[in-house]
Amino acid sequence: MAAEPELEEVACALCGGNRSRVKFSAMKGWPPSADGSYAATTDKFGAYGTIRQCLDCGLLYTSPRVKASGLLEEYAQNKDEEYFAQSEARSMNAYLSLALIRRHAQSGSLLDVGSAAGFFLNAARVSFDVTGVEPSIWGRKYCDEHLKIKIAASTLDEAKFPDGNFDVVTLLDVIEHVSDPGAVLRECARVTKAGGLIYLVTPDCESLSAKILGGRWWGLRPAHIFYFSRETLTRLLEKNGYEVVEAKSFGRIFTWSYWLSRLTNYPKPVYRAVEALVDGLGIRDKFLYLDTRDSVELVARKR
Ligand SMILES: [Zn+2]
Repeated sequence: MAAEPELEEVACALCGGNRSRVKFSAMKGWPPSADGSYAATTDKFGAYGTIRQCLDCGLLYTSPRVKASGLLEEYAQNKDEEYFAQSEARSMNAYLSLALIRRHAQSGSLLDVGSAAGFFLNAARVSFDVTGVEPSIWGRKYCDEHLKIKIAASTLDEAKFPDGNFDVVTLLDVIEHVSDPGAVLRECARVTKAGGLIYLVTPDCESLSAKILGGRWWGLRPAHIFYFSRETLTRLLEKNGYEVVEAKSFGRIFTWSYWLSRLTNYPKPVYRAVEALVDGLGIRDKFLYLDTRDSVELVARKR
């Protein structure tokens, strides 16, 4: 049994304010021990900590939360074998991200922050010279052995890239996990050429499904310590040297079986009805593109 992680209270990462209200109370089972709940790729939702809303700027964030050092260690040790059950789908989703990036930049050097097992790096090298950083030892090893891409550094801080080194920096489902998103964006801006781009994907906490589902929304997870809306993400980008160029909802491709797993937290009759339909049609392994309109993808330009 792993030790309980050390916790800390934090202020708002967007405006620095300390005045907040509890938006969602911590669930039973939080904080999790080192059992994979922090896997960047985990499909475990629920069991999240206390989610607060800043009374000054509206940002949603988890506080108290696992200390930054403990968090990084969790990601370094993170293994998620289930990740590969959807490896084809993850590759297809990488191309969906690439499609939007290529509307604004067709070639050059690209840095992917939080590359996981490297599916996006592998897709992006069709157009770009790619570099990744990833804390998970397991993710780096997979990327090296199976995709033949070496990821040299675990974090941006460790990599110490020179100023203005990249044309494009990408963070796919990453910004909601990091302990200081403003500092990460500042470092991304520093290593980006003037006029270069940043691309982000993150759950949208102001989306219709997030509002309707409330505490049951799939986006609320123990590993997510920030919940952005288009507005709060835009403000954080503007504060750290960027100008938003394009923002839209991000749909994803997964098997019906995976989409079904997203419904396990929901009322049983809903789950059973969909499950019966999926099994009746025999389509568990078939792919489905679905835009639930509750993730946002966004391109911004370094000023
Ligand atoms: Zn705030």
